[in-house]
Amino acid sequence: MKNIILIAPPAAGKGTQSKMICEKYNLVHISTGDILREKSKTNVELADLMKKGCLIDDNTMTKLVSERLKEDDCKNGFILDGFPRNINQAQLLSDMNININYVFYLNVDEEILKKRIVGRISCPNCGSVYNEQIDESMPQKTNICDKCGNNLIKREDDNEESFKTRYETYILNTFPLIDFYRNNSNLYEINSTDKMTTFNEICKVLNGEI
Ligand code: ADP
Repeated sequence: MKNIILIAPPAAGKGTQSKMICEKYNLVHISTGDILREKSKTNVELADLMKKGCLIDDNTMTKLVSERLKEDDCKNGFILDGFPRNINQAQLLSDMNININYVFYLNVDEEILKKRIVGRISCPNCGSVYNEQIDESMPQKTNICDKCGNNLIKREDDNEESFKTRYETYILNTFPLIDFYRNNSNLYEINSTDKMTTFNEICKVLNGEI
């Protein structure tokens, strides 16, 4: 069974890796950020919290995730992208009694993350991610998705100020999860500077080669 958690700082590539892994292994991608962004279209309070880079409360998040995990499609394996984000959420997840087989920690330097965040643009239709400031990550046509032709958008929280809050929140709240899961023995640390190298490393673990 492949029930997976991804832990990573903001813009480390959780979304991109999740999409690739889900396609290859036929898993369900549960991105709490994506779910919340959808909800924030009709919820001003939520949109405002997210724009500032603040976390949403643990009970709301846990309810949202536990309901999603009960759906049938999760029975064949899933990736949790963005949850848990602090020790309390990890505890609440462990109370759900769902087996987690792999926890990947994607490690990236803060400076690289900042650069990725500021130029990041993505496709609201298929989720592909690009960067308008990094040559090898630009779309072929300005602002158009290579894959599906949709217009690309910039996330409201992808600016330097919000990144600062998100990164600090990550160090303070999410980083301690690494020790939490290390003690539970199924943690894999992956250097996540290059997209394909990261993906290949994750696949090696999932294929049982490491
Ligand atoms: P990133 O990891 O790049 O910051 P995400 O898309 O995972 O982006 O999350 C975007 C925002 O959604 C977060 O800054 C936070 O406001 C909210 N969010 C997502 N997941 C959680 C969670 N598990 N707990 C609390 N807030 C969350």
